[in-house]
Amino acid sequence: MSAPAKLHRPAPNGENATPVRRRQKSAPEPEAKPEPEAKPKPEAKAKPEAKTKSAPQAKPKIKTKSKIKPETDAMFWKTRSLEELTPSQWESLCDGCGRCCLIKLEDEDTGEIYFTDIACTLFSAGTCACSDYANRRRRVRDCIGLTPAKVRALAWLPPSCAYRLVAEGRDLAWWHPLVSGSPQTVHEAGVSARGRVRALEKQVRLADYPDHIVKWPRQMPRPRKPKPAAAADASDEL
Ligand code: SF4
Ligand code: SF4
Repeated sequence: MSAPAKLHRPAPNGENATPVRRRQKSAPEPEAKPEPEAKPKPEAKAKPEAKTKSAPQAKPKIKTKSKIKPETDAMFWKTRSLEELTPSQWESLCDGCGRCCLIKLEDEDTGEIYFTDIACTLFSAGTCACSDYANRRRRVRDCIGLTPAKVRALAWLPPSCAYRLVAEGRDLAWWHPLVSGSPQTVHEAGVSARGRVRALEKQVRLADYPDHIVKWPRQMPRPRKPKPAAAADASDEL
């Protein structure tokens, strides 16, 4: 594969650069709390007509209840759009795969985006996560804060990215921590970047970045399914 004519991080969204990852500040704002019901004026109580007027105000209350769903709703990713997620639901949707923290190159002639196996300087290969998530946007200027609009605009988001899946109306895979109940399954299934990062960005000369181009981050993973307990026991006896 020929190397990109010029190297820089892609900015498909008009931003300066690109390693993306989870976003906190830019997570969807919680839905606005409903306006408190207007209290009927004291005179209104005295007048039967005014009482009748205030009665229908009970209906918006019911409407509001159905709009703001309880935080604990099971499988919220199936029932809510990205815009409807609470901040904590938004955060929990990230599977921790780390694919979006890999450095990407853009061929300026074609606009094609290429992933590399070089990770952002704040990426921790051991934990497969950002080592300073709270301050990431201050320390890495081109770390993108995902929003629902950006999820839909960034064509290079990995096909397994949970935000992309939900935006496309698809379900999460068995290895997603929200489904499995364990943050380890994304690594056990071989879906994450753990063990696949060859260097951090400051450890590689820019001119050598093309040598690190890899295809797997843009491919749907073929996860390794855990062995059923019985089968695992049997194989252990061999
Ligand atoms: S699910 Fe993976 S690709 Fe998507 S934001 Fe989280 S770490 Fe990045
Ligand atoms: S700053 Fe953190 S979250 Fe952002 S790309 Fe780098 S490692 Fe990922």
